[in-house]
Amino acid sequence: MSQATEASVFIALGSNLQDPLAQMRRALAAIRKLPLRLLGQSSLYQTLAIGPGEQADYLNAVVQVATRLQPLALLTELQQIERQQGRQRTAQRWSARTLDLDILLFEERVCDDPQLTLPHPRMHERAFVLIPLLEIADSIKIPGQGAAKDLLATCHHSGVEKLALNW
Ligand code: ATP
Ligand code: MG
Ligand code: MG
Repeated sequence: MSQATEASVFIALGSNLQDPLAQMRRALAAIRKLPLRLLGQSSLYQTLAIGPGEQADYLNAVVQVATRLQPLALLTELQQIERQQGRQRTAQRWSARTLDLDILLFEERVCDDPQLTLPHPRMHERAFVLIPLLEIADSIKIPGQGAAKDLLATCHHSGVEKLALNW
């Protein structure tokens, strides 16, 4: 079932395995094939891994889309793209991955379902999310948290470097 009107949605992309630049480009191409319109696309950022153990740097970015898909239907499509790109979920949280696609914001919806929590429950404390998000939506507010700009000011943001790379 689709929604009567389009929703504005922000999606975070991340990769640190198996040629992250190629993974990010392939993921964007796959996202563009979904029933949605791409409204915005941040630069690529190279970021230090925060997960367990020694991990390669990540590439991160955020895109904004408009879609009539329902939130869970969109999540299912994004997880399908992750699987197509070889994402393996291990018991260890935040381990290295070929591709992570997270729904950051779906309009102003708030939902605490563990299958799809909105806004994304950790986005407000992650510079690697807030910096690309602010690049494409500088006055965005995160429901329940406040202005993304103010949240970025309170989080540690060394280790996030904007790249001059097309994708
Ligand atoms: P993090 O959520 O801290 O960024 P992660 O992205 O590595 O960690 P995943 O293994 O990709 O975590 O996802 C774990 C589960 O999180 C998924 O099965 C999914 O159902 C759930 N989930 C809850 N809220 C969201 C959301 N907003 N976007 C994507 N997945 C979500
Ligand atoms: Mg994630
Ligand atoms: Mg994820």
